[in-house]
Amino acid sequence: MRDLSAGPRVLLKRLRELMAEPLEPQERLDRIVRQIAQNMVAEVCSVYVLRSDGVLELYATEGLNKTAVHLAQLKMGQGLVGTIAASARPLNLSDAQSHPAFTYLPETGEEIYHSFLGVPILRTGRALGVLVVQNKAMRNYREDEVEALETTAMVLAEMVATGELKKITKPGLELDLSRPVTIEGNSYGEGIGLGYVVLHEPRIVVTNLLNEDTEQELQRLAEALGSLRISIDDMLSRRDVSMEGEHRAVLETYRMFAHDRGWVRKLEEAIRNGLTAEAAVERVQSETKARMMRLTDPYLRERMHDFDDLANRLLRQLSGYGAKLSAADFPGDAIIVARAMGAAELLDYPRENIRGLVLEEGAVTSHVVIVARAMGIPVVGQAAGAVALAENRDAIIVDGDDAKVHLRPVSDLQRAYEEKVRFRARRQAQFRALKDVEPLTKDGTRITLLMNAGLLVDLPHLNEAGAEGIGLFRTELQFMIASTMPKAEEQEAFYRNVMKQTGGKPVTFRTLDIGGDKVVPYFRAAEEENPALGWRAIRLSLDRPGLLRTQLRAMLRATAGAELKLMLPMVTEVAELKIARGLLQKEIERQSKLGEQLPRKLQFGAMLEVPALLWQLDELMQEVDFVSVGSNDLFQFAMAVDRGNARVSDRFDVLGRPFLRMLREIVRAAERNGTPLTLCGEMASKPLSAMALLGLGFRSVSMSPTAVGPVKAMLLALDAGKLAEVLEAALDDIKSETAIRQILVDFAAANGIPV
Ligand code: PEP
Ligand code: MG
Repeated sequence: MRDLSAGPRVLLKRLRELMAEPLEPQERLDRIVRQIAQNMVAEVCSVYVLRSDGVLELYATEGLNKTAVHLAQLKMGQGLVGTIAASARPLNLSDAQSHPAFTYLPETGEEIYHSFLGVPILRTGRALGVLVVQNKAMRNYREDEVEALETTAMVLAEMVATGELKKITKPGLELDLSRPVTIEGNSYGEGIGLGYVVLHEPRIVVTNLLNEDTEQELQRLAEALGSLRISIDDMLSRRDVSMEGEHRAVLETYRMFAHDRGWVRKLEEAIRNGLTAEAAVERVQSETKARMMRLTDPYLRERMHDFDDLANRLLRQLSGYGAKLSAADFPGDAIIVARAMGAAELLDYPRENIRGLVLEEGAVTSHVVIVARAMGIPVVGQAAGAVALAENRDAIIVDGDDAKVHLRPVSDLQRAYEEKVRFRARRQAQFRALKDVEPLTKDGTRITLLMNAGLLVDLPHLNEAGAEGIGLFRTELQFMIASTMPKAEEQEAFYRNVMKQTGGKPVTFRTLDIGGDKVVPYFRAAEEENPALGWRAIRLSLDRPGLLRTQLRAMLRATAGAELKLMLPMVTEVAELKIARGLLQKEIERQSKLGEQLPRKLQFGAMLEVPALLWQLDELMQEVDFVSVGSNDLFQFAMAVDRGNARVSDRFDVLGRPFLRMLREIVRAAERNGTPLTLCGEMASKPLSAMALLGLGFRSVSMSPTAVGPVKAMLLALDAGKLAEVLEAALDDIKSETAIRQILVDFAAANGIPV
């Protein structure tokens, strides 16, 4: 037998020469298989490539009938070749014909070959094809031969991935790598984004596969592993990390893996077989990924992900690559594709170029999602496999309305979406044109249009949308995206910044509304059976007066000399407000004693979100300077439907009689007591339900920034008095079976109101 340790090295060297020669792709493939056959002393060597229709086609062979090339085919999962591609695992058989999956392809003449070794051609864990060697004699291929063939398959993976084989692909067919894919996920941010993939953690494309000097490559690997270990230790010793449970756990795992002997041995082995250090990491990573895709245990999958991340880091160390595309390479229409990412990382990208975000993980409450929504970009989360399937600069569509991601869309789909986006853009332009138009209804009623916000990235929308102020500033978002509790000075600086950026327009700060679906990782309370009804918002604030007082102090200081409007969330009894006001009073006294400047004007308000307040309306209206209805929670509690549970949240209509009658009671009580009233739930963001609110007598509404234009267009065409009459009659009519929503739709249609 040959000298096996030299075998793979010689082969890889020969392949490198072949790759560099100016050959036509078929010629190159033919020579590659001949070379492999010779080197491995095999009578047959064949390459099958996976097409986008799921068929593995014979692209080249040495030893089988040449006439079968581009004719012999097997479906994914069919025959030995199909089994290897589907499982992304090698098959090593001394008697191929006796294997249950064996499928006889008469055109190839392969019946005389007994032993069979096939390995997947892998790239980032996906099988792009299969490489096979066969011999007449019954024999089992040794472990090192399997290893050598797997390494060789990487060269072919590169050939497929660079698109070289397109030239010899039958017209009308595509290779799997360019296959259009649709991934269904969850919608975390509405809207449609068209653009090109930017992988958040780009894979380093290793082009230099074969090493010149094994010792030198081993040395490079050792150095890169050393720096990787040091960088993980550095991260672990940072104070903020040590306080974060989860992040720390991940890093601990990384550290463990970075010292894993088995992993390091595999890497070294691949280098000894002739690969560069980068190619060795990619090779081992690809196998890990392929394994990971087969795992069903979520814990093990998670661990494999960690390995994968670590391999990426190591690749970056080796190649000296930064994590991000350079500014010049960053597409004008970028869609960020990531497994998961931190909020701060999203903010690092050039904001004006980002058209969408795709996450393999994430939840509506994850920080990056909150920030993305504030930026107004469409987001699809839980998009399984997106990172492995996407390549940098692939065309991609994120449909946040329909919770779908279309990767490499076919041209018809692309055109349909382009049309949709153009249509939206035209409408947006029309809305923008209304920005400075006074919000007066057709019958002359002045309406106050405010917007909701919670982060600094929201604030530019204020002027763009033409809102008069911020009707709801969700202060908990600063807490939710921070890794540790924001300190008093940080809170103050943040509110100061908000005041500065809103340039004198009124801002209503809501005190911390955490608990329920608003999770603050470092503030863990005991598990609750019913968190929505649990220890949250004002309840938590009153039990932790220190927390509330710190926040109130920060607000007082940040608005010194200006107007401070603040309100408390989730009030159930007026008595709670009295206690909160007492705490505020103490803070005011403290500030005066210290000789600090106080706000010029102070307005103390309450959110009306809990139905119990409906039976304390007069006390409430007299206790506060203003009331803001939180229709999201009020609806949830009034109708007993979880707002975050898609199975029930749409079951009842906010425009149904019960809820509208409830809102009418609130409007009447506010009028009776002369208390300013506004509404800041999602209901104000849809032109039709906003129209209903104006019909009920609301004169101030606060909504998401993108809704301001459409709502203004609606009200400019609305005769509010006429609608009030229609709505009043409809709500009083206990015999009517016509849904109020229908009555509103008909009213809008009959009066030419855009809803
Ligand atoms: C609401 O409940 O309607 C509201 C505006 O508050 P949030 O959505 O923040 O709970
Ligand atoms: Mg609420």
